[in-house]
Amino acid sequence: MPIQRRRAVRGLLLSLLMLLSLPACGTPAPAPTGDCGKLQAAWLSPAPGQSPATIRSGTAIGTLHAFDTRRLWQPPRNPDGVWVRLLPACGRWLPAPRVLVIRTPGLGVIRLLPAQGPAMHDALEDSDRGRWHAAGMVAFPLQVMPAGADPLWLHFEPTRALGSPVTLHLLDGPAFQRTQLRWVAYVSAALAILVGMALTALCFAVLLRDGAYLLYAGYVGSYALLQALASGYLFQPLGLGWAVPDPVALGRVAGALSGLFSILFAWRLIDLPRRMPRLAPLALLAAALFLLIAACAVVPLHAVQALAGHLQNPVVLFAGPTLLILCLLALLRGSRYAGFFLAGWLPLVLLTVIASAQQFGVLRDWTWLDPATLGAAAFEALILSAALADKTLAARHEHRQLRLLAETDALTAVFNRRTLLDRLQSLMAEAVVARQPLALLFLDIDHFKALNDRHGHRIGDDALTAIAHTLRQILRDDGIIGRYGGEEFLIVLPGRDGTQAQAIAEQLRLAIAARGIGGTGSRSLTVSIGVATRRDGDSADTLIERADQAMYAAKAGGRNRIATGAPTP
Ligand code: GH3
Ligand code: MG
Ligand code: MG
Repeated sequence: MPIQRRRAVRGLLLSLLMLLSLPACGTPAPAPTGDCGKLQAAWLSPAPGQSPATIRSGTAIGTLHAFDTRRLWQPPRNPDGVWVRLLPACGRWLPAPRVLVIRTPGLGVIRLLPAQGPAMHDALEDSDRGRWHAAGMVAFPLQVMPAGADPLWLHFEPTRALGSPVTLHLLDGPAFQRTQLRWVAYVSAALAILVGMALTALCFAVLLRDGAYLLYAGYVGSYALLQALASGYLFQPLGLGWAVPDPVALGRVAGALSGLFSILFAWRLIDLPRRMPRLAPLALLAAALFLLIAACAVVPLHAVQALAGHLQNPVVLFAGPTLLILCLLALLRGSRYAGFFLAGWLPLVLLTVIASAQQFGVLRDWTWLDPATLGAAAFEALILSAALADKTLAARHEHRQLRLLAETDALTAVFNRRTLLDRLQSLMAEAVVARQPLALLFLDIDHFKALNDRHGHRIGDDALTAIAHTLRQILRDDGIIGRYGGEEFLIVLPGRDGTQAQAIAEQLRLAIAARGIGGTGSRSLTVSIGVATRRDGDSADTLIERADQAMYAAKAGGRNRIATGAPTP
């Protein structure tokens, strides 16, 4: 595993540990008050003509259905809302003050008929709750408890939003505060991860001009908005309710956009159209349905908005399994990114499925599901960002490989002629600006044709490779080596004057001459090297021309030597 990837995995595990080490915040810590802290609850659908007064007086009660307030209870949907009667389990109320806590209801108003005084209202989407800054829950402060075993009555008012299962608790002040603090710390951490990841991805999208980052940012950002709305965090503690005139519509838009972006992101990350050409259109259909929901949710017509509400669950039920199957098939066909997507997404899918199953009455003891879903979303965001980083690294690696192929000579692995000339030009320009010397060596193998003729081209090729290797070994980072022609090499020595360049050339000549050629017994090759240094007004061509002339002088002088001037006629 490459180091970067290992580091990424380690970072992910650490973040996950931090997330898991946050205090669980599913069920509030029960006050140590025995049975008297517990509530006995029953709900009833209001009959026509029932008013708070008749409910309070107990004169017009219909059929009561008991339920356990510590397990999740889903308020039935009813055009007139639902009434809930609360009694102390031990036959008498604990002394005031107490806080009646309902968590986590969906968007919608809940009304309490207290022992004395007027009815109180509260709702998650209510930012302006006076002294009561309850976050993530609806809470009613009870300064006076009902007399004896008189009931408290709650009314879950009708709402356009999808209901969500709740638990009800009677807490004392410190327990209420502890629960609040834990909830705010946990949700803040999870949302900070989601929003942070979305913003980082947005920056990368702009810097790298990569649409995948934009889709990821859209997905994680809209999911964070959905969670901030559904948990009430946007209203308390953020206090941004004034910016959301219609939370139900915004929730639908955020939910639909997160569905849309998640599909488009998977499409791009896994390359669905190439991997699954026949099934991929199903994902596009699901994306189009999400787009339709988002569009319907913002049309200011009641019937159209209601359509968005009706479409929500069926589209999720169609899109979830479709994407799951597509990802699984892509994984089976070898897509590592499908593996990333599934690893990040599966926990969230599983929790969402369990939450849906809870609507049918199963696993109602799992009150930690809501916060766990938020944690799973943060976990998914981390895994998916690791997938993006991995993909970007792979693309960078591929780009480097291509550049290397385009720049180097296939046989000797030194720069090819075009790249060498480019480098020479830019180094000469730098030398002019910095008033630094620059030297050029023109190296030509002696009697190379004879070697080819006697031992064959393969041995000739091996000799070329071996000489390039020797040049690299001796020069290391001191010079830039390129193959100029068949058995001719150019070596650029930035910052070197004539004397230094001659010393280096001599070193190279001796090293090559000392080296035997494989496959030729004890024979060795020699080279002639021409040395030229940059003069004012030189271009790359004139410098090469002088080095070439010097090389010919070395040949004329008997080969296996270096020369600095033109050959004598
Ligand atoms: P001199 O000492 O005067 O430079 O003699 P020479 O034989 O080296 O010079 P010449 O220019 O006559 O021959 C160059 C030879 O290099 C011709 C060609 O067969 C050989 N050559 C060029 N490129 C390659 C190559 O990629 N592989 C092999 N094996 N030989 C090559
Ligand atoms: Mg030659
Ligand atoms: Mg030659």
